[in-house]
Amino acid sequence: MEQSCHHTDRPTSDWDQYTEALFTTLFAAGDNDTTVPEDEQQTVAQLLAEARQTDKTGPILDLFSFLLNQAGENRRSPTAFTIDRPTLEDLARKHQQIDEHLVSIGGRLTQARPIAVEANQRVDEYLAEKDTVAPSGIELWDTILENQQRIKKALSMTDEEWHSFPGQIRHSIDSIDTLAGLVDLPEAAVASITKVTEKYRMRLTPYYTSLIMPGSVNDPIMLQSIPTGEMIDNAGIEIPPVAADHSPARLIDQFYPRVVTIKATNMCAMYCTHCLRIAHIGRKDQIYSRDAYNEALDYIRSNTRIRDVLITGGDAFVLPNSMLKWLLEELDRIDHVKLKRLGTRVPVTVPMRVDEELLDIIEASNDRKPIRVVTQINTAQEITPVSRDTFRRISKRCFTVLNQAVLLKGINDSRVKMWKLCETIQEAYVRPYYIFNCSYRNPQFTHFRVPLEVGRDIVESMYGNISGDAIPRYIATAGGKIPLHRSNVVTMNDNNSYTLKKPWNGQEVSYPDADPQLYANDHFAFAGYQR
Ligand SMILES: *Cc1c(COP(=O)(O)O)cnc(C)c1O
Ligand code: SF4
Repeated sequence: MEQSCHHTDRPTSDWDQYTEALFTTLFAAGDNDTTVPEDEQQTVAQLLAEARQTDKTGPILDLFSFLLNQAGENRRSPTAFTIDRPTLEDLARKHQQIDEHLVSIGGRLTQARPIAVEANQRVDEYLAEKDTVAPSGIELWDTILENQQRIKKALSMTDEEWHSFPGQIRHSIDSIDTLAGLVDLPEAAVASITKVTEKYRMRLTPYYTSLIMPGSVNDPIMLQSIPTGEMIDNAGIEIPPVAADHSPARLIDQFYPRVVTIKATNMCAMYCTHCLRIAHIGRKDQIYSRDAYNEALDYIRSNTRIRDVLITGGDAFVLPNSMLKWLLEELDRIDHVKLKRLGTRVPVTVPMRVDEELLDIIEASNDRKPIRVVTQINTAQEITPVSRDTFRRISKRCFTVLNQAVLLKGINDSRVKMWKLCETIQEAYVRPYYIFNCSYRNPQFTHFRVPLEVGRDIVESMYGNISGDAIPRYIATAGGKIPLHRSNVVTMNDNNSYTLKKPWNGQEVSYPDADPQLYANDHFAFAGYQR
C-alpha cells in the first residue's frame, strides 16, 4: 500500500532527500570569502530573525532561497553569515511542521519552485501577445460601439431595429455596394467580390459587420463572412457533396449508430465563407414542410439505436420558436432519444435572436431530457459583451454550451490566437469541444486550409498550459469525425512500461503499465472474499 499518503506516520522532524541535498549544497559552497559586504550580512541577519519568529512558511523559504543564491553565485556558505547547520535544521523542521502537507523546504525550494518558474515561462509569450495579436470583442468593444453607430446611421436603422432579430435580418447586408460603404475593402477586391456573390450568397447582419475592425487587412470577421475571388478560382475538381452519401432519410445525416443530425433548415443568419455545407446552404431560403420533418422523425422513431439527436441546419436558431418547440417536444416523446443538441452560430452572428421565449423552450426540453447547444466561434473577436451575455443566459437553461471551431488560416492558426479563443469562450460560458481541420471536400475554401502538423502543434501546445477543460479535440471530417491528436507514447518497453512524453516541454517519463496478469484475475476486491 505504498501510496502517497504514507507521510502521516513519518516523524515530522525527519527531512527528505531534497532537504539533505540542499544542506549539502549550502555547506559545500566554501566560506573562504570572509569579506561579506555589510549590507548582505544585515539582510541575512534580518531574514534569519524573521524566519525564527514566524509561524508561516514564507520567511523560512525566503531565508533558504537567499542562502542558496549566495552559495550558487558567490560561493558563500551559511557559515560566512555565521549561521550553523543546527540552526537551519531547526528551521527546516519548522517549515515542514507548518505546512499542511508536510512539504519539505528542500522539495519546495529546489523542486517545486523551479518547475513553477519553467511553467511560467511557457505562457510569457502568450500573455505578452494575446490582447494585441488576438483581441477579443470585449477588448475591442469601444471600437465596435463606434462601428455600430456608423452602421446604424448608414443603414437608417432605429435602435429598436438594431436590437431585434427581424430588424437585423431586414437590414442584413447582401450587396457589395452597401458593404463597401461600411467596411474597408480594397478597391480591387470589389469587382471580384461582386462576381463571387453571383455564385455564393453573402449575408452579414449589421451586428456581425460591426465586429470588423476599420483599416484591418484580413480581419478575421471579414475573412469568415465576405467571399473572395479564391472561392471561384479554387473551384476545379468537383467533390461529391456530403449530403448525398450520408443521408439515409429525408433531412437526416448519419455516420454513427447512436447519433444523427436533422438538417432542419438551410437558412443561416450569416453565411460563412468556409461553410462545410456550402453546396446546399444559402442559395435560396427554404421553408421545409411538416412532411419532411415527419419523415425525419419517423426514421428516428423506428430506429431504436438512436439516442442523441442534433438539430442543425443551416442554423437551428433561425427556425421559429414554435417550430423548435414542436421538434423538441416530438423528440422528447421518443423513448430511446435520451439527449438533444441544437447547432447554432446565432449567438455570435445575431445574438438579439435569443429571446426569453426561446430560452424557456430550451429549458423546458432540458428538464425533460438533457439538451446541449453547440455553437461555432472561430476567433476571440466574436466574443463581445453581448455574445458573452447571450451564452451566459443560454448556459443557465441547458446542460452545456459546446464550441466547434474550424481551424482557419489567418483566423486562428497560431498558438496565441487559438489559446486566446479557447480561454475567451470558456470565460463566456462555452466549452471548447472540437477543432475541425478545414474540410478538403470543398475546393471553394482550400485557401483557408491549414496543414495538419500546424494544427497538431497548436492543439498539443495547450496541454499543461491552459485549463484542461478548455482544450478541444482536433478532428478531421472525412465521412465521420477522425481524431488527429499526436500520440504521446514514445515507446513501449520490455519491462511492461511505456515511455511517455510531456506535450508541454518534451520531457520523457517512464510510465509503468498495469500488470497484465493481475488485470486478468477476476477474483479481486469483494469477489476475493467469496469461496
Ligand atoms: C458531427 C456529427 C455528429 C455528432 O458527432 P459527435 O462526435 O457526437 O459530436 C453526428 N452525426 C453527424 C452526421 C455529424 O456530422
Ligand atoms: S452557420 Fe454553419 S451552416 Fe451556416 S453558413 Fe456558417 S458554417 Fe454554414
